[in-house]
Amino acid sequence: MPQQTFTHVPRIGKHIERQSRPTREAPQIEAGLERRSVALANRLTNLFRNRSRPFPLTALLEYFEIREVRERPLDRDACLRVAPPGFLIEVNSLYPLTVQRLGIAHEIGHLVVERCIRRGQSSLGKHSDPRIEGVCDRVGRLLLTPDWALSFYLRRYHAPRSATKARNAKPTIASAARAFGIPHKAMTLRVGASRFKNAFRIGLGEQGRNRA
Ligand SMILES: [Zn+2]
Repeated sequence: MPQQTFTHVPRIGKHIERQSRPTREAPQIEAGLERRSVALANRLTNLFRNRSRPFPLTALLEYFEIREVRERPLDRDACLRVAPPGFLIEVNSLYPLTVQRLGIAHEIGHLVVERCIRRGQSSLGKHSDPRIEGVCDRVGRLLLTPDWALSFYLRRYHAPRSATKARNAKPTIASAARAFGIPHKAMTLRVGASRFKNAFRIGLGEQGRNRA
């Protein structure tokens, strides 16, 4: 029966795929790589010091010799391609601009990580490594919402009503996401970072248990 064939084939496929994977655990990412990448990203945000929100990524693209950002339909947010003597980024034209910006910043994050690797092993092409991806996500969010700019914003628009009580941050997050041109979820993660949460009495309810 054709139905039997249909259900059988994917099972074989899965089996083969499982067998071809390495059985041992992949090594941890290099010690201190995330810390160094975040530190470099923080320094790079100084390129935006004289700019107004939402910060254009142009200066970062130039810094990393990314010669072109090409919009086209993709099966993912964005991808980084080597285009000697530099790089190009393809970004999914089907997604909203805020998601596109975050996708581009994530790809720049890969180049930030690359500069911080000490072992001489390239991380490029390791899009499937969730640990590297996590660092690039974090770096991408940070590049679009520099600590100094977000602190300034929260100081201005999220004044706590009392020194001890958290204030619901939902309206602030929505307005900050628009002001910085990033998706709401990404801004929730940023504002939920302990640095901001404690300093500005941010109330996030069930959300916000994440790192910056
Ligand atoms: Zn990636």
